[in-house]
Amino acid sequence: MSIRLPQLLALATLVSAAALLVAQESAKPKPEDTEVWTPVPKIVTPGPADAAPPSDAIVLFDGKNQDEWVSAQDQTPAQWVVANGILTVSKAPGVGNIETKRKFKDYQLHIEFRIPENIAGSGQARGNSGVFLASTGPGDDGYEMQVLDSYNNTTYVNGQAASIYKQSAPLVNPNRKPGEWQSYDIVWTAPTFNDDGSLKTPAYVTAFFNGVLVQNHFQLWGQTLYVGKPFYKKYDRAPIKLQAHGDKSEPLSFRNIWVRELN
Ligand code: MG
Repeated sequence: MSIRLPQLLALATLVSAAALLVAQESAKPKPEDTEVWTPVPKIVTPGPADAAPPSDAIVLFDGKNQDEWVSAQDQTPAQWVVANGILTVSKAPGVGNIETKRKFKDYQLHIEFRIPENIAGSGQARGNSGVFLASTGPGDDGYEMQVLDSYNNTTYVNGQAASIYKQSAPLVNPNRKPGEWQSYDIVWTAPTFNDDGSLKTPAYVTAFFNGVLVQNHFQLWGQTLYVGKPFYKKYDRAPIKLQAHGDKSEPLSFRNIWVRELN
């Protein structure tokens, strides 16, 4: 049997259509194209309760002593008050802020605080403290996540509890009443710098306040200044600092402080 030209053409068309189908099938995205299998995330045993430190945490305060802390002023042993498993700010003259002996870059931090039940004062003078995510040395303002009683206390919103001070108000206000324990869970991505001191990558903060998202990958403009426009200044690793604010209200307390280093 002889094949005529029209039949040959029809056959060729069929063959190329089939080839096209096969090609299309192999080019189609497959679920496994986007599967990543390694590296396998490290297994970490969570603590028995939500707030307890996970197995790989560095415990900065476990209720017993302030051995992980020094005076931010002169690096002498911290002199806040440890009693009944809690760490309370000392407003004694000359004591001031405390900071960790250890220095950090990127980390996850858990910290609990309690504003005194009988807190008085208003605005920024009502339960003011602060978690300085990087204490970059004397003379610097550093990078503060504000601690304040913002349960029923009006102040500038970028200075209320869980604000990145003067830069970012919290997304919501999940404050508990004075007298109740509250928590911050903070992810800090430290800024990085070039050799000449210029900024390479900015700092970012993600934070949960009492388990509620309040800062979502906020990009900082620089140090959190009381006055003026924020700017960055080169540093490598820095302690975490807690603020003894100079106002006259009753001092607040901290407990269960731990950190997980991310680099
Ligand atoms: Mg403060």
